[in-house]
Amino acid sequence: MSHRVIGIDLGTTNSVVATVDDSGVVAILPNADGGQITPSVVYFEADGTALVGTEAVRDAAFDPDNGVRLVKRYMGSEFPLDIRGQQHTPESISALILRQLVSAATGTGGGPAQDEKVSAVITVPAYFGMAEREATHQAGVLAGLDVLELLDEPVAAATHYGLTTGGNRTILVYDLGGGTFDTTVLRIVDGAVRVLATDGHHELGGADVDRRLLDLVTERFGEILPSEELDDLIDDQAWLADLALDVEAAKKDLSKVTSREISVRTPRGRAAVTIDRADLDAACSDLYQTTSEIIERVLRAAGNSGNHIDEIIMVGGSSRIPVLGQRLADLFGKVPQLIDPDLAVAKGAALRAHHLVGSAQMSALTARHAASHSRGGGPAASAGWLRGLPGGPGAITPVTPRAVGIRIEDSNDPEGKRAFIAHMVTANTPLPVDQTEHRFGTIVPNQGSVRIQVYEQSGAVLSPEVEHNRRVLDGELTGLSKLPAGAVIQVTLRISVDGRLTVIAHEPRSRKELTLEAFVEGVIDAAETERLAKMVSQTRVRG
Ligand code: AMP
Repeated sequence: MSHRVIGIDLGTTNSVVATVDDSGVVAILPNADGGQITPSVVYFEADGTALVGTEAVRDAAFDPDNGVRLVKRYMGSEFPLDIRGQQHTPESISALILRQLVSAATGTGGGPAQDEKVSAVITVPAYFGMAEREATHQAGVLAGLDVLELLDEPVAAATHYGLTTGGNRTILVYDLGGGTFDTTVLRIVDGAVRVLATDGHHELGGADVDRRLLDLVTERFGEILPSEELDDLIDDQAWLADLALDVEAAKKDLSKVTSREISVRTPRGRAAVTIDRADLDAACSDLYQTTSEIIERVLRAAGNSGNHIDEIIMVGGSSRIPVLGQRLADLFGKVPQLIDPDLAVAKGAALRAHHLVGSAQMSALTARHAASHSRGGGPAASAGWLRGLPGGPGAITPVTPRAVGIRIEDSNDPEGKRAFIAHMVTANTPLPVDQTEHRFGTIVPNQGSVRIQVYEQSGAVLSPEVEHNRRVLDGELTGLSKLPAGAVIQVTLRISVDGRLTVIAHEPRSRKELTLEAFVEGVIDAAETERLAKMVSQTRVRG
């Protein structure tokens, strides 16, 4: 069966789809309006149709109860959304966005044909933990996609910038999008990409800049309009929605011009105020300072003082704000690169998808080639075939974005109430993590079961306190018998390359390997998956 291979940047504010054509050229696949960037916004119409994209932004602004924005912020969390009588989740909303992205691209040049199977690499922020990755994978599956891989956005960006091949180097990726900030240090050695450290803030982006500019603009209107008149205007949802759109457009213009007028309709005609780029920079300086502090933190985590960064690449629509490039140039003493910042991640994902499928097809050819040689008694020439692969992103070494550990009860606590997290894997450990084994003890004699709760670090700083970590797996090792207190339980932890966590608990006295029944919190169970799959496939989507 033929299938189309695409890369999808499923962004907090905007999403982009790209593919690589037969001649190896990366192309953006168009959305329903013929554009390249689709707002990641869903609006449910009265008949249940899911409207995705620019029109949805407008409708959701007027009728926010039936619209969903910034859903990526809730991926991996329990966040039911009741809309027009249907119970949605972050996964199902994301799946509807994915469905519309693919459906709009279907039948276009380079896009999939009707009913063609679609295989995709979907990008995720490097700091996404396990639950968020699971949820993103689930969204892809609900949308009917064959998910080839979840690729870290900075790695996709570096691939687009052509920095993952052709020499050894260390790169800092600065990604400021609409709703998230993500910064990562990558090391490229002989074409293999390794994430040295990653950090970010998932509630910081262009939407915050928009809010600051909106405040600034309304403050300025407050200086020229009577206060009751301005209060009435602000209470008018349609007026405020129009102003919010004008403010975002003005913000974008202020990346090109140093001053911009914003005009609004008032009961007595029109009124206008002028905002200088410097005013906006001053209003946002604390936001920008936060990105600088996170960069310092990521450099420390990467063991890099900043002197050893060979390239700085800027990604995300908000990285067009000129002062941000200047700040980076001042910090590193070199000019950052800014090429196609809103399309970079999708293009890199498409290159990766093309490479993955190309490798698989080459491997199949190689296997056949080797078999035919061995039948003839000649040497198998597979190595030569594989070495000749066209320039893809090469091997990618992702890391655990956060420390992972087991919750244990403190046996020194006389009240037996204190618990803490014993981390078994630190943040930024290269994946896969294989067979990290730790030994824990049972607490009371004849303990029949042991609850195994796996946590990941939830903040930027490593802490054993339970509240500074969040639970990702929970299960019960049962069937233990006649063990004294302190009997050894071996816990083995594995994390696969795409962040899936497996925990195996073993009680050596009985030499029985007991199965740990575990589930990732926030990820939906089989019955719920079926319900959502049905709902997603039966919902009409349009852009
Ligand atoms: P992304 O999530 O990467 O698509 O980035 C979207 C964000 O980039 C939105 O907040 C946009 O308003 C913002 N953006 C796009 N173009 C510009 C620009 N020229 N100047 C400032 N912000 C921009």
